[in-house]
Amino acid sequence: MIGKFASAKGSTFFQATNPVSTQKLPPHFYEATSQEIDAAIQKSYQAFQEYRNVSGKKKAAFLTTIAEEIIALGDDLIQRCMEETGLTEARMLNERQRVINHLKMFASLVTEGSWVDARIDLAQPDRKPLAKTDIRSMQRPLGPVGVFGASNFPLAYSVAGGDTVSALAAGCTVVIKAHPAHPGTCELVGRAVLNAVEKNNLPDGIFSMIHGESPDVGLALVRHPLIKAIGFTGSFRGGKALFDEANNRPSPIPVYAEMGSTNPVFILPGILQQQRDVIAQGLAASVTLGVGQFCTNPGLVFIQSSKEGKEFTTTLSKHIEDTNPGVMLTQTIQCNYEKGVERLVESGDVQTIARGKQNGSGFTGVANLFQSTVKSFLSDHLLEEEVFGPSTLLITASTKNELIQAAGKLGGHLTATVHGTEEDFNTYSDLISILEQKAGRLIINGYPTGVEVCDSIVHGGPFPATTDSRTTSVGTMAITRFTRPVCYQNFPTSLLPSELQNTNTLQLWRLVNGERTKNNAQ
Ligand code: NAP
Repeated sequence: MIGKFASAKGSTFFQATNPVSTQKLPPHFYEATSQEIDAAIQKSYQAFQEYRNVSGKKKAAFLTTIAEEIIALGDDLIQRCMEETGLTEARMLNERQRVINHLKMFASLVTEGSWVDARIDLAQPDRKPLAKTDIRSMQRPLGPVGVFGASNFPLAYSVAGGDTVSALAAGCTVVIKAHPAHPGTCELVGRAVLNAVEKNNLPDGIFSMIHGESPDVGLALVRHPLIKAIGFTGSFRGGKALFDEANNRPSPIPVYAEMGSTNPVFILPGILQQQRDVIAQGLAASVTLGVGQFCTNPGLVFIQSSKEGKEFTTTLSKHIEDTNPGVMLTQTIQCNYEKGVERLVESGDVQTIARGKQNGSGFTGVANLFQSTVKSFLSDHLLEEEVFGPSTLLITASTKNELIQAAGKLGGHLTATVHGTEEDFNTYSDLISILEQKAGRLIINGYPTGVEVCDSIVHGGPFPATTDSRTTSVGTMAITRFTRPVCYQNFPTSLLPSELQNTNTLQLWRLVNGERTKNNAQ
């Protein structure tokens, strides 16, 4: 989709596969040629020259129309999505609602408008010893953004997912690389976005979509000089490769890669005495939810050795053994899961202590519970790597000190969870302080799966969970990933954006001479 024009000039094509039946699904999708990729990006750049100045209200109407157009796709979207991913109808309906909520949330953000962070420092011509000039600044869009979605959220981290929506809200244009695991779903949503472009009389080229199964298509997007930022959701391998590629460009660009994470969970001794069965049940449900195919899957669980710890392990094992196998998203993901399981078991002091039920058809994944010690965890970095699927590694510490040492050794994660009583939290306050430096979202007495779409959410974290820990891919804070501050010195009113003029016609919250206010600047 080069803007609204469909193009299929390539000679390489592919089909989606139904992971339940393992059968190919019609139609064929054509891998974009380098000329088509260039045409889409050139068009995106031209559209950006107009779209960058579109008002917040107009962008809000556009985002709201995208939401309406997605809903208007009705059951066709849900059915195609289910066929391409093996995910359930309930899950797809839920995910579609999440996309709608995200679109609406960004529509309200840009309607209100204060997110641009307008700052005004009025001139002081009489200031001694030097006169002060008039200086103002605000956030402005970066330019065309390349977006890559992940296989496991065919709606929420795909064509109209958080990256696309936050980039469009910021005033950037978008060229998305459709995920080859759900190309038909991408086409349907892509058409919905294009309908919204047309209905809102916005320039053609704001949104384009390219298909491709080979890494070349994505790499061409990252290398193109007119692309000014990348939003990526997917594996560490993919995200890091694209991040390195972007940094090797003659003019490097920011890459916001949201990658895998093992989301450590610490269960402290006091709560283990009081709630071990409830936590074992909740944890098993979180580990196996969606066949473990969530970036927030709890893949590492830390406890201290004790009688209660043993009982907890037995109960958790029973829940894992009772888990039915589930269909995974693609054959590659299933194979990678099996390889990850093998790698973990072969890596040294790791035992398989429970395995889920094994009778299933399609690309099925079986639940696994592994066990190891803090000593092994400290000496083998493989134990912290994501195994994308329904498994978790239970790590036992002999002492509090060992538990704290393990926390200190952790790399960056999307989330970190602590289960404890009030007394536990007092005794282990140093643990929380360490985890705050390791994860984007800290959870007390809950489970990491399930990311709420709201203003305060942070879905990000230090490397290797992401390539930029300063931001989030979900929630309204995501918008500034695709903007940069621009300063206007000594500008006459006629040349200033309306957000920065003395008269505050848009009624924004602004920082005027150091004071947060909605008053006019004078
Ligand atoms: P993936 O294999 O990395 O694919 C994501 C996208 O990147 C695809 O379009 C893929 O295209 C492209 N890609 C991957 N490697 C590339 C390379 N070297 N060069 C160019 N393009 C490349 O990830 P996935 O299997 O779809 O998703 C599962 C992973 O995503 C898990 O690790 C999960 O934890 C993570 N995830 C993270 C979040 C988060 O917010 N942090 C959310 C959801 C999922 P091709 O397939 O054509 O290569």
